Amino acid sequence: MTHEYTLEERIMRFFKEFRDEENKPKYINFIRALPEIDDHVVPIYFEDVFYFDSELAKILSDEPDNFIDVAKKIVVEILKIERPVEAASVDEDSIYISIVGESPGYSIKIRDISSKYLNKLVTIYGLLIKVSQVYSIPVKAVFQCPKCGLTQTIVRPNVLYKISRPRCSEHRNVRMDLLKEGTVFSDVQTARIQEKPDELPPGQIPRFIDIVIVYPMIDKAYPGDVVKVTGVLDLRKRGPRDIYEYDFVLRVISIESREKEAMEVVITRKEEEEFRRLAGEPGFYDKLIRSIAPSIYGYRDVKEAILLSLIGGEDRELRDGTRIRGKIHLLLVGDPGVAKSQLLKYAAYIAPKGIYTSGRGSTAAGLTAAVIKEAGGGMSLEAGAVVLADMGICAIDEIDKMRNEDRVALHEAMEQMTVSISKGGIVATLNARTTIIAAANPVDGVYNPYKTLKDNINLPITLLSRFDLIRLMRDELRSDLDIKLTEHMLKARESEEPYEDTFSPEFMRKFIAYARRLRVSMTREAFEKLQQYFINLRASASQQEETLSIPITPRQFEALIRLAEASAKAHLRRFVSVEDADIAINQMNLFLGQLALNLETGTIDSTLITAGVSARRASKYGVVASKLKELQIERGNKAVPEEELIARIVRDTTLKDTVEIRRIIDKLKIEGVIMEPQPGFYKLVRDI
Ligand code: ADP
Ligand code: MG
Repeated sequence: MTHEYTLEERIMRFFKEFRDEENKPKYINFIRALPEIDDHVVPIYFEDVFYFDSELAKILSDEPDNFIDVAKKIVVEILKIERPVEAASVDEDSIYISIVGESPGYSIKIRDISSKYLNKLVTIYGLLIKVSQVYSIPVKAVFQCPKCGLTQTIVRPNVLYKISRPRCSEHRNVRMDLLKEGTVFSDVQTARIQEKPDELPPGQIPRFIDIVIVYPMIDKAYPGDVVKVTGVLDLRKRGPRDIYEYDFVLRVISIESREKEAMEVVITRKEEEEFRRLAGEPGFYDKLIRSIAPSIYGYRDVKEAILLSLIGGEDRELRDGTRIRGKIHLLLVGDPGVAKSQLLKYAAYIAPKGIYTSGRGSTAAGLTAAVIKEAGGGMSLEAGAVVLADMGICAIDEIDKMRNEDRVALHEAMEQMTVSISKGGIVATLNARTTIIAAANPVDGVYNPYKTLKDNINLPITLLSRFDLIRLMRDELRSDLDIKLTEHMLKARESEEPYEDTFSPEFMRKFIAYARRLRVSMTREAFEKLQQYFINLRASASQQEETLSIPITPRQFEALIRLAEASAKAHLRRFVSVEDADIAINQMNLFLGQLALNLETGTIDSTLITAGVSARRASKYGVVASKLKELQIERGNKAVPEEELIARIVRDTTLKDTVEIRRIIDKLKIEGVIMEPQPGFYKLVRDI
């Protein structure tokens, strides 16, 4: 006949007999040292239990509360034998049993939490989005009757249990008072964890679960951290007294902060070999670019900028401890309906850890972080999108609409890679090692090329200058482009086949994760190429009398290095080559060219940096537009014949060259500033 062990016996056997690889009694040794250990934490490794006694592991998974209660008692018993003197100072309530590792059957997704796991030991991974301040609750409360002095002790079975004031057994109508002496308090913190962005099915709202953490596990993780939490799934009542509805709550047994990037995407040896093989094929880099939002026509350069931003350069720590960011921040500015939002969504979709949000932020915490007053009293610190996307990519659409608090905090996030908050008694610095890909709409609805960039977007210049690249996306009226665009849009909708010659989003996500992890170093040739370009840029910038609104500073040189490094990674090169330098320079030229570089004279035009056309040219365009407006008013708002317009300009202004005037009229037509309702007649559509 086999003897049925009791739970006490099983745990006792496990503690006494389990031996580690060195054949040492691991748990006996641990308990022996307990009086000297802070917080009296006894870690129990799930693996050990499972290996030693699978039946016991099952009890631990199914009845964790029971297991832990008994385990504490056994620890005290063992201590009495092993350390008889010190045992007196370690009482059962002060022992904390922490379960390390996880029960394979009960390692679940937040989305899968259900009543079937109630009171079981479950492990979940998620993003910590909010933590409360620490507060205190009695674990063992001593009450006393104010009339007769009778005392009564109530032990809280668990942290969620609410102790209410008992009535005296002698005087039934008298409520007893809490006696601070004798009552044992414990520190508690509540927090919320949410599904990780990469776990989230497309188009779904992230699910979350509140967790309750008890000392000594409090303050082990911060908002924005990816955490692994093991605990007991429990319920918390919601709604009024007679309504039996509950929310799930996890009573935490152990919580660990995870190294973020490493765990997000697993790449096998075979996949790595495949990446290497493909990277050696001609046209690979262009195929990567094409694979960014294939349904969107054109914008090769913008897509290239997105690819480089998704990969990023090297984050570095200098010898003096300064951190230098390798993240490439990208801003798309442009007319409505030019697919900015679509590109951003796609970027977040294929990023290994990507979050798409609007400037307003999707939660109360906005883009960065907020201190929030809880309904039940107390304050919580909640992480916003840029913190949640730590070590990943945050795509911020309509960034011009962000809240003022975020505007300040974003400056810090983009350069220092942290978010600091100090409010309502909470002072914290959260990590935000996040790449920002943002989009902004112009103030006037459409981009006005005759105004400065600064005046076109509602963002402070200090923030604009933190973007490595700013890209203008204009909706130019060109029928030849429109034909191709609409054909492409039709094909994107009708065809069942995958886009021609592009990589799948899954491939892109893995590849980007892989490329990000590569370490690259600069070659002398590539460096000199970037250096020469930068020196020329500075020289031409300094020739300008007026101050530039995006000054050419060493920031641009850093941006060039980051871009070149990202290009090397995209090509899976270990060294940054001259070709990478060229790619970086081309991107920088496109940025400055659209916004700054006077392509006609080859110099940087100070007003161009802020405008898009030189002051000289801007004034000419302005002249043509204002003369057209003048004539249009004179003619009772009717279209103006071309000859009349040209004659008026020649008569009244310094613009005398009719060929040039015609060229300006054509350009204004493309820009959508004027229209030609009938051949040779013009009307002004909007002011410039
Ligand atoms: P924005 O955010 O710039 O205002 P959206 O991303 O909302 O613009 O795009 C508006 C719509 O126009 C989307 O459905 C988008 O797919 C379509 N669209 C705009 N430009 C293109 C393009 N070049 N190729 C394909 N579709 C486009
Ligand atoms: Mg949009």
